[in-house]
Amino acid sequence: MLSDTLRQALVNIPYLIAAFLFILGLKYLAHPRTAVKGNSLSALAMLIAIVFTLFDQNILPVHMIAIGLGIGGTIGAVLAIRVAMTEMPELVALFNGFGGLSSVLVASAAYVGASTGEINLQLSIATIASALIGAVTFWGSLIAYLKLRGKVVPSGAVTSPVLKILNGLFALSILGLSVVFVTNPGMEMYFWAVIGIACFMGITLVIPIGGADMPVVIALLNSYSGLAACAAGFVLNNNLLIIAGSLVGASGLILTQIMCKAMNRSLANVLFGGLGAQESGPTMDADEVYAGKVTSASADEAAMIFDSVQRVVIVPGYGMAVAQAQHVVKQFTALLQDRGTEVLYAIHPVAGRMPGHMNVLLAEADVPYEQLIEMDDINPTFPQTDVALVIGANDVINPVAKTDPASPIAGMPILDVDQAKTVMVIKRSLSPGFAGIPNPLFAADNTMMLFGDGKKIVVDLVEAMKEL
Ligand code: NDP
Repeated sequence: MLSDTLRQALVNIPYLIAAFLFILGLKYLAHPRTAVKGNSLSALAMLIAIVFTLFDQNILPVHMIAIGLGIGGTIGAVLAIRVAMTEMPELVALFNGFGGLSSVLVASAAYVGASTGEINLQLSIATIASALIGAVTFWGSLIAYLKLRGKVVPSGAVTSPVLKILNGLFALSILGLSVVFVTNPGMEMYFWAVIGIACFMGITLVIPIGGADMPVVIALLNSYSGLAACAAGFVLNNNLLIIAGSLVGASGLILTQIMCKAMNRSLANVLFGGLGAQESGPTMDADEVYAGKVTSASADEAAMIFDSVQRVVIVPGYGMAVAQAQHVVKQFTALLQDRGTEVLYAIHPVAGRMPGHMNVLLAEADVPYEQLIEMDDINPTFPQTDVALVIGANDVINPVAKTDPASPIAGMPILDVDQAKTVMVIKRSLSPGFAGIPNPLFAADNTMMLFGDGKKIVVDLVEAMKEL
């Protein structure tokens, strides 16, 4: 028989390996070239963590672990295969929510299962923290999911002083009741009351947020789910859960900060400012912006311009993902390069519907990473660019972000495509993008609109170029 100390030491070895793999996985996730490897390493780490925990604690027999892995793996695989790339933020929101819910369940089970004498200060603080952050995360994530789907809950921001007052009251009550609970952990009623109020607060915290702020909120909820898991690690005295939860909490917070910076907003402004609030409405009328000023062109006319250019910058946006035009765009790029034209891709940090959306999309088409240039690096080069070819992007190239302080995207850094000699915009109509506002760039003197589905227009461009 192994002594308890030796057994504990042996269990910690796989935990140590898993912790190392989590950290390595995160490091690899930081670059598109190594991201797939990073994801696989992190998944392996989670597998090691779960299997060893279940073994070590004698929680489940081997066949039950295998059945659980089979069912969970199948659900995960089906979801991952079926989800459209444009629906990833919704899926991430759901994942965050389930993470939060499991922390609530773990904390509640640990609390209910413990006798009053067993609940020391660490356990009472960890239990209440895990349960309350988990409950806020679960309900907040469900609301974020529904907002992104545009169902049941309005997708725009809802600014109401009532919500602000409610949030203040909820925060104060949670704080007060949590302190009472920690000092009297035997009083079960306070525990359930905190969870109940936290559920409402998850809803009232996310309802006011909308529009282009949703991705930031999802990153923040991701961070919360990590913090809840970390607290659950203290509840269970499980070192690996503490490490994994802290990694998710910290990385989610860093991502939140990066996204706030990309939109030139403070986190407080995102959470309480109400971007895209319904009552604010568009600051410009579309007719006023576009009437009589929009120039449209055919693929043949555009191809003639491309025939004699030196430098082209392609600006992908959400519409390119919808049209699934990435493969044909790569083909078009190759045609231009064969003619000696330099072609680069301008990547805006919040183009598309999730962080890194454009990188993933272009990686799918094997576009070399060296051709993907971040916003800050590509912006100074637009004046030397012959054609900026915008494919399904809108908000991320909207100059009103700089010129109209009343606009819902005011202050958001944009790609300065208007500085290029010629701007070509491929989209189906003059409909607005995610932020719901007109874009004066479409009516600029140096802009040509190529109206149609992103993929179809680029296919037409490829054919027209071949005929030149
Ligand atoms: P936008 O949402 O601003 O615009 C996308 C444009 O694509 C639309 O105007 C639409 O015009 C066009 N489009 C749609 N389908 C097609 C198609 N099949 N072919 C061609 N065009 C099409 O996209 P951007 O990428 O410019 O901006 C992203 C926005 O989303 C920002 O406001 C950002 O803050 C927000 N956001 C970003 C997230 C992220 O993390 N990246 C997550 C959530 C939101 P039309 O209908 O006329 O074709």
